[in-house]
Amino acid sequence: MRQKIVAGNWKMNLTKEEAQSLTSEIVGMNNDELGTNQKEVKLIICPSFIHISTIKSLFKSSKNIYLGAQNVASQEKGAYTGEISAAMLSSYQVEYVIIGHSERRQYFKESNQEIAQKIDLIFANKMLPIFCCGETLELREEGNHVEFIKNQISESLFHLSASEFEKVIVAYEPIWAIGTGKTASSEQAQEIHAEIRKHISSKYGKEIADKTPILYGGSCKPSNAKEIFACPDVDGGLIGGAALKSRDFVEIAK
Ligand code: PGA
Repeated sequence: MRQKIVAGNWKMNLTKEEAQSLTSEIVGMNNDELGTNQKEVKLIICPSFIHISTIKSLFKSSKNIYLGAQNVASQEKGAYTGEISAAMLSSYQVEYVIIGHSERRQYFKESNQEIAQKIDLIFANKMLPIFCCGETLELREEGNHVEFIKNQISESLFHLSASEFEKVIVAYEPIWAIGTGKTASSEQAQEIHAEIRKHISSKYGKEIADKTPILYGGSCKPSNAKEIFACPDVDGGLIGGAALKSRDFVEIAK
């Protein structure tokens, strides 16, 4: 049985007060509404850096709720104005870091190599990566999407040792589905998730591939989560827009 995970990527949204209310609502609903089986779902909340310490203090004794960051610097420390290091995040008890999100790749020109450096710093500071991959519509239409995704994975992750790799969470996020309201069909999601698992297996073997959680992301909401999450190789979701509404986020987890 693979770990089921629903992670909320809040992106650049919410003021301090809004972030506090949303967290309190999620914590309350998690305690009151999710049964023991559903509590086996790990919830990871990824606010902006600035809200990290405020949010963490509201988790209280919710054992299935974890704290994540949306990015980290690719340098260890020093004269990098405006950046946040892995050691800083770790000192605030951050447990997960989203890495290689398509918005970081597109707007901040992050390469597979830079993402690989970030992954190493995440591990060196005892946190765990949520590694995002996914293709543009153009690549899909050309039929080159599977190769593209495999290459993203090989170049950023395949230098890891097996004992590191088995802690990685992968998120497949087709760029054409992010924030567009256009979700991948469950067949499309299953096909790519199975390809990703096969690719992991070719490098690390079936046992590790079978254990790796692979999340789907891209316009995931309560109305489509059940069908997508029912696919055999889909282990949960990385949620953007719907993670900003406590009711929607908790319904997706249910
Ligand atoms: P979305 O974003 O759910 O708003 O499409 C997903 C993501 O970018 O992680």
